[in-house]
Amino acid sequence: MLYPWQRDDWHRLTALRDRLPHALLLHGQQGIGKRDLALHFAQGLLCESALPDGQPCNTCSACHWFGQGNHPDFTVVRPEALEAGAGEAEGDGESSSKKKAPSKIIRMEQVRALIEAVGVGTHRAGLRVVVVYPLDALQTEGANALLKTLEEPPPSTVFLLVTDRIDRVLPTILSRCRQFSMTRPTGADALDWLRGQGVADVEAQLALAGGAPLTALHAA
Ligand SMILES: [Zn+2]
Repeated sequence: MLYPWQRDDWHRLTALRDRLPHALLLHGQQGIGKRDLALHFAQGLLCESALPDGQPCNTCSACHWFGQGNHPDFTVVRPEALEAGAGEAEGDGESSSKKKAPSKIIRMEQVRALIEAVGVGTHRAGLRVVVVYPLDALQTEGANALLKTLEEPPPSTVFLLVTDRIDRVLPTILSRCRQFSMTRPTGADALDWLRGQGVADVEAQLALAGGAPLTALHAA
């Protein structure tokens, strides 16, 4: 989804579509919706009848698959702890109490699976899109493996890498990406949006969250 403060970012992103870089690094403050923007852009790239401004139509089969999380040319790589439903089974009897807590890092086997997936070409006629978040959850080995892929990018593949810790990203990876700095919402935009979400005492919540509306919503 697109937040009200992301209109300019969206137009800047859409303007890149004519000459899309192999890898885009979306970075900026935590809690301003970078991941959601990356996913929306990914859906727009895969959509079979995108709107004139590049937004996905939400009705074509590609959008349908994307919404179901099973578009064959879309891959998302994130720590287990950020998977939908992670932690839901907590305290659910003896067997799950023995389970390890969901991982907060991106494991090497996830990177291997990604590299294998991008190596087989696309299933549909268009692009393959990969979203990795947060990029700084990669460990050294995984980062080096990803770097190799970025150095010899597979055809018709776009990597959308997301981080709020650009200082933790390997300089060699940075050099392979087009950096895309995301705009912070203005205080007025953030407050309006939080009020619309039914958050009480919005000024205080937003101040506590350092101006990041999604952080404020999560805390509220
Ligand atoms: Zn569509």
